[in-house]
Amino acid sequence: MDHFLYRNGALHAEDVPLEEIAAAVGTPAYVYSTATLERHFRLFDEALEGLPHLVCYAMKAASNQAILATLARLGAGMDVVSGGEYARARAAGVPGSRIVFAGVGKTEAEIAQALAGGVRQFNVESEPELAAISRVAVAGGHRAPVTIRVNPDVDARTHAKIATGKSENKFGVPISRAREVYAEAARLPGIEVVGLDVHIGSQLTELAPFEAAYRKVAALTETLRGDGHDIRRLDLGGGLGIPYRNVNDAPPLPFDYGALIRRTVGHLGCEIEIEPGRLIAGNAGILLSRVIYVKAGEGRQFLILDAAMNDLIRPAMYDAWHDIVPVVEPDPGAPRVDYDVVGPVCESGDTFARARPLPPLRAGDLVAFRSAGAYGAVMASEYNTRPLVPEVLVKDDHHAVIRARPTFDEIISRDTIPEWLRQE
Ligand SMILES: *Cc1c(COP(=O)(O)O)cnc(C)c1O
Repeated sequence: MDHFLYRNGALHAEDVPLEEIAAAVGTPAYVYSTATLERHFRLFDEALEGLPHLVCYAMKAASNQAILATLARLGAGMDVVSGGEYARARAAGVPGSRIVFAGVGKTEAEIAQALAGGVRQFNVESEPELAAISRVAVAGGHRAPVTIRVNPDVDARTHAKIATGKSENKFGVPISRAREVYAEAARLPGIEVVGLDVHIGSQLTELAPFEAAYRKVAALTETLRGDGHDIRRLDLGGGLGIPYRNVNDAPPLPFDYGALIRRTVGHLGCEIEIEPGRLIAGNAGILLSRVIYVKAGEGRQFLILDAAMNDLIRPAMYDAWHDIVPVVEPDPGAPRVDYDVVGPVCESGDTFARARPLPPLRAGDLVAFRSAGAYGAVMASEYNTRPLVPEVLVKDDHHAVIRARPTFDEIISRDTIPEWLRQE
């Protein structure tokens, strides 16, 4: 459930008509619902009630500081994957003790930054990285808390570009080598082993792959404890999928996911961390856009929008489906027209949907892409020198611009003309 509903014939974000936001901010624009963000965070938090746990929001899904601050107030930790995300989380008021640092290619500068600022743990993905963390920690007079991310060789049965738990993926250390890597970690002077980590992919629509992975994690935890390692924390990753299409497909609920966690690893007495991103932010955001032209093609109608692939790349990159709905509620009896919904960018890949049945639309009409809150604004670019899409946060009947649309001058002034081009 989200908080984007029709009321009196107009699509609202909570109590704010989207028409009002379009008039105030312009289009395209991302609009997020505070109530939906909070609800989704609480679903996870409650699913783990009774177990010692921390829900670390995977902020790469949607990283505006206003979103981070909304979640941090509820007690969320953050899962960060870069020095930039670490700095952003800290700027949003998240203490280092609630920040988990993930990612396959942490640089020494990023490691030093997190050690100096405070970090809950590094999720380590390779032996060279382990050695680097130890080296940087020793140099700075720290001992770095780490978990090792194991690759359990489990098929997440999701889109190939977001599956991470098979042996051919670049992530984690092979589970078959975990004991050796832990032995190495125990020998390194700058390392303190605190637990074990796994993350098998994103947009998982079944629980079975999680179950397979977590059973392996449970067995490995016992083995590692037998080897003398203090495995007191289990980071079980993120990845729970969301409904993108008509809400007819119903991926597993956080409650059932929580029950699975209890069943598979609950007996180990570990503190549990999870890293959901998409499920918290995905259905908490829409992309608001306006129809520029309706163009008659050869046997098809193009709906040309002012949003493009640079604003929402998921359809081009992952063949993703987003429901597209008119902001003015259509008459239930209105006919349907099959539109190819496209943006203005000079690429055929700039296509959001083909032959999508929609009520008849005209130039100037507003539409909303649903389920666009995760991996939407964060993946936006200024391709075609289109200004980075702004973001708006709604709470009850208020809305605030949380990232303004840059002006052309701001964009252009970031370029620097070298000396030799300035000469006559
Ligand atoms: C991307 C990612 C997540 C979040 O995945 P979602 O599908 O958005 O829940 C969590 N942990 C790690 C390590 C990731 O790379």
